[in-house]
Amino acid sequence: MNTKFDVLIIGGGVVGSAIARELSRYRLKIGVLEKNPDVCLETSGRNTGVCHGGFAYDIGSLKARFCVEGNRMMGDLAKELDFPFERCGKVLVGNTPEEYDRLLEVIAQGEANGASGMRMVDEEELHRLVPGVVGKFAMFSENSGILDPFLMTIALAENAVHNGAAYFLEHEVTGIERSGEDYLVTTARGTFLTRWVINSAGLNCGAVSDMLGLKGYRIVYSKDDYIILDQRLGRDLPMPIYTVPSNTYMGIHVSLTTDGNVLLGPTAEDTDNNHWYGVEAKNLEYLEREAKTIWPHFTRGDYIRTYSGILPKWADEDGKIQDYKIEIRDDIAPRAVNLVGIESPGLTSAVPIARYVIGLMQEREKFEENERFDPIRRGIRRFADMSAQEQAQAIREDPDYGELVCRCQKVTRAELLQAVRSPLGVRTVTGVKYRTRAMMGRCQGGYCQMRITRMLEEELGIPVKEITYAREGSQLFFGKVRED
Ligand SMILES: Cc1cc2nc3c(=O)[nH]c(=O)nc-3n(C[C@H](O)[C@H](O)[C@H](O)COP(=O)(O)OP(=O)(O)OC[C@H]3O[C@@H](n4cnc5c(N)ncnc54)[C@H](O)[C@@H]3O)c2cc1C
Repeated sequence: MNTKFDVLIIGGGVVGSAIARELSRYRLKIGVLEKNPDVCLETSGRNTGVCHGGFAYDIGSLKARFCVEGNRMMGDLAKELDFPFERCGKVLVGNTPEEYDRLLEVIAQGEANGASGMRMVDEEELHRLVPGVVGKFAMFSENSGILDPFLMTIALAENAVHNGAAYFLEHEVTGIERSGEDYLVTTARGTFLTRWVINSAGLNCGAVSDMLGLKGYRIVYSKDDYIILDQRLGRDLPMPIYTVPSNTYMGIHVSLTTDGNVLLGPTAEDTDNNHWYGVEAKNLEYLEREAKTIWPHFTRGDYIRTYSGILPKWADEDGKIQDYKIEIRDDIAPRAVNLVGIESPGLTSAVPIARYVIGLMQEREKFEENERFDPIRRGIRRFADMSAQEQAQAIREDPDYGELVCRCQKVTRAELLQAVRSPLGVRTVTGVKYRTRAMMGRCQGGYCQMRITRMLEEELGIPVKEITYAREGSQLFFGKVRED
């Protein structure tokens, strides 16, 4: 431990990274302590990627307020930080009179929350908006959209680093102690001294809360499984299709990614295990059956992969799920901001949450503006998105654009190198995957994974046996099968 930080943020997911980026508007020494080797390995990389409209949350709640604000600002944010976002709209389809009434309630709730652009559409208009959907009517939310959750988180983190914040990856926080006016934060790789500390630890928010002395939060977990379908199907799905939500379950949906893959999910099962992401066969059958009731245009031959995400929910003693808790307890942990239960819509809400956190901090201490703050971040130039002329020009300027590494997604060596040499850097195979789309196509890395590993070996100058797939312990190679 050499330097003292003004602010240390525990957790580099979308919320921690949004806080780091928004705090870098001020003249502060900011550090982010992240236990994983990358920023998107937990909930921020395991969701649906929908920019929600703000109609599904209780009137007056922080979830509703932040979601509406986040939805409004998403277009500008995506332009500033250069991540994929489309305001494609979304439909909630129904069939019965009860469902019609429920959708009217949803619209009323949305309007009370300040959301706009929601209306009922009849069967004819529904089928014009989404050909192939099964349903008699729908609520259409024109302001809902889809975004790339990996690239949004990475963009926030890279822009924070560009503006002076430091990321310490593979630094799991194991303890927090008071040291006079400061906090001494112990990690798996050394200790850090800081004036302010922020708990943005997602699934571990309860454990970090305890470390701060803010005890007693009951966190329950809900695990959601999804199936990812071939990009080919995305051409026939202009926007996400949801069923009518209940008070506790958003309902099954058929959604799509900004790259055109279709997602079927989620299952929503309570779990005590906040780090097991496997998907059971019985859940695949359930998802197939339920998704087909609203969009029957897929077969098992279209399946590419499964994934799951886990939501951390703050529950009261009776198990009732609570609103986001964002607090500074001056009596117990001064200059510590505690974020608890940042479940959905945390992606949509990340920047408004960050601004709210900074507002609480500024009520206690005025921060000086960083005049050199630069809000702009440029992402990787994708070969697949260029015209033929642009491709030829790109190859002339940088011959690495002429070497195709991922054939399914048309990703070139130039893009892989831009990922590794980006402000945050990359050390894992999935780190390259999430930044470039290499390995996300039909063959799932069958062709390019070895080539990516070789490139990492050369660029990072480390032996191939030290390169991991995603996390600590996920080495791809352990030794030679045969000596030369
Ligand atoms: C299935 C699913 C679907 C969703 N769909 C949507 C959606 O469509 N739209 C939407 O708006 N929201 C959605 N959400 C919610 C959204 O994804 C989350 O609210 C958001 O990603 C939370 O971000 P976070 O940064 O708080 O958490 P995380 O992404 O979990 O980040 C917390 C970070 O803290 C790190 N960490 C934990 N403990 C420690 C420690 N001790 N030391 C150091 N680091 C630590 C973790 O490694 C992690 O990287 C969905 C969530 C799920 C699960």
